[in-house]
Amino acid sequence: MNSKFKSASRLSIVFILSIVISGSILTYFSINNISNLKNLTEKRILEEQKELSARFSKAIQNKIEKLTIGFKSEINPPDLLKDSLIKTANIYNFIRLPFILNDEGSLLYPNFVEITEKTSESRFSKLFKSTFQKGEEAEFAKRNLRTAKKQYLLCLNYSMGATDSVKALNAIGRVSIKLKHYKESFNNYNTIISDYFPLTASNGFPYVYYALPQLLKISNVDNCEEILPLIEFCLKKMEVGLIPLNFSTEELLILIKEWSQENTFKNQEKLSHLNILERKLHQQLQFTKDYRIELNKLVRDGGLEEHISTANNFRVVNPFSGKNQELLLINTNLINPTGFLIDREKLIEPILKINLQSDFEFDYKIEFPSGYNSISKTQDLIYSSQLNPYFPGQLIQIKLNDENLIKDFIRKRSWIYGIAAVLLMVALLLGIALIVRDITREKHLARLRSDFISNVTHELKTPLTSIYMFAESLLLGRIKSADGKKEYLSIILKESERLKRMINNILEFSKMEDGKPEYHFEHSNLASLLNATISDMNYWFEEENFEIVSELDENISAEVDPEKIQQLISNLLNNAFKYSGETKSIFIRLFQKANQIYIEIEDKGIGIAEDQLTKIFEKFYRIDQKESISGTGLGLTVVKEIIEAHHGKILVSSKLGKGSIFSVILNQ
Ligand code: ADP
Repeated sequence: MNSKFKSASRLSIVFILSIVISGSILTYFSINNISNLKNLTEKRILEEQKELSARFSKAIQNKIEKLTIGFKSEINPPDLLKDSLIKTANIYNFIRLPFILNDEGSLLYPNFVEITEKTSESRFSKLFKSTFQKGEEAEFAKRNLRTAKKQYLLCLNYSMGATDSVKALNAIGRVSIKLKHYKESFNNYNTIISDYFPLTASNGFPYVYYALPQLLKISNVDNCEEILPLIEFCLKKMEVGLIPLNFSTEELLILIKEWSQENTFKNQEKLSHLNILERKLHQQLQFTKDYRIELNKLVRDGGLEEHISTANNFRVVNPFSGKNQELLLINTNLINPTGFLIDREKLIEPILKINLQSDFEFDYKIEFPSGYNSISKTQDLIYSSQLNPYFPGQLIQIKLNDENLIKDFIRKRSWIYGIAAVLLMVALLLGIALIVRDITREKHLARLRSDFISNVTHELKTPLTSIYMFAESLLLGRIKSADGKKEYLSIILKESERLKRMINNILEFSKMEDGKPEYHFEHSNLASLLNATISDMNYWFEEENFEIVSELDENISAEVDPEKIQQLISNLLNNAFKYSGETKSIFIRLFQKANQIYIEIEDKGIGIAEDQLTKIFEKFYRIDQKESISGTGLGLTVVKEIIEAHHGKILVSSKLGKGSIFSVILNQ
């Protein structure tokens, strides 16, 4: 029994130790694991960011190279080159406009002419000149408009070519307006626009720049539909560079815009064409403003070579600089340096829409920060690097779409770790509780055991002393009478009986503890077993004047171990005898009810408190009595064990001071 408890507490220690060790290992690995996993995830993110940046860069490069490689550079002269450039620009929507320079770096297309005040009157004939002067005198000095018109009309006759005619026509148109001959002036300007649009005045100013505002002036509800195609015609010629742009083009475009908004037109389609043309011309004007001087310098000074070269002799100038976020691609291999103005947004936007990260584990957003020039740096899982060698200074920055990803990840892990730690603590506390319980139990058992030893010693001593005393008296011949001798011998016999019962109980208990009690079942009549046990104890009952009432059904037999059943009955009877107090009546019953056999031993003695009813079957357990009644605390333990071996059960009903009934119930 001792060893059983010791091994139990040893088990608890092993249990706690194993939990502490495995818990510590678990904690160590989970902490390690969290940081490892964090590092790994961050590494993975960085790899994906690098890959995404590379893919993006490649995509942009492909687009640029598709344009530059696809462009046929051998096309010359400039007019054909211009057509092919315009065609190419229409294919790629990220091209804002194409351009051509001459070998001195001046713009050929868009065609922008700086107006100088230089005049070249010499080209007109003397007669034309004098007649025109007369006309001007009449118009501006004398204010004689009719004479002026006559003189200008004469000029038409003296004209030697288109330059003369257009000058005369322009003057006739102007005077006609002053004379309110609108129809005539419309016709004149119509001719100038349709037939003489490339021609410029002696100051370099194209005649259409005079004609268009005048036409707008004489426009009314009836003729505005006729004026619209003329304007569209002019703007188209400007757009393709046949009518040069100059510093007043912008003003002219504003006039046209106002006019188109003031009038209503049936042909809305034409009007929208007009708007597109206006927009394109504004772009061209902006381009000349932004790059004319810079490009001129670059070509003249041979500075193009310093710029980054892409495929097919194109060089990148001004990558994504300025408020418009554009770049220039210039082909340096042609006689006329040629190139395209590229719109950054339109180049990048479509690539952003392609899903470049479909095979990635995480989700990223791409940004293009401007304003600093670091080459590559990584912080807080933001990856930034140069977008592409073609665009020096332009950064690409890749961030996690969900900025809290890593934080959430760690938080989740920490939760798991926390729960594991709590579980570990609980297990530890449980283990400690187990050990404490074991220790208390063991202490309790130790006390019970020592009580048991002193009890047993006492219990064994009492009958032994009696036996010794009576045997000695007999031996010394102190008892003479035959009756006396008989009485002494029967006392020796009964005391031996008591001794035997006690030793039997101890033996049985020790076998029980070793787990190997032996049972020999045989068909036995239970009343006989009961009677035999009662008669074994009769001596004591008679001695103490006990009233024994037995009601035994003689016909009940069962498959039992007769010796063990007798031991059981003997223990119960002995208890009834010991704890009867003053009321010395014992009732013994054997009966059968609902296929079950009942053996009941009832006494009218001291009884048992309700809270003790289960404890009395524990080993060594004895209820503290006022007056000490001898015992070992093993009787009922053995009883319970024997009943269990017979697959039966025992019930106790008891009341303090009134007595107890122990009912043994066996299955038939
Ligand atoms: P013991 O040797 O002390 O009698 P048992 O195991 O037979 O040991 O009984 C355990 C305890 O149960 C006894 O110490 C006693 O206090 C109580 N007990 C047993 N039988 C009776 C009974 N018939 N009446 C009152 N108390 C009883």
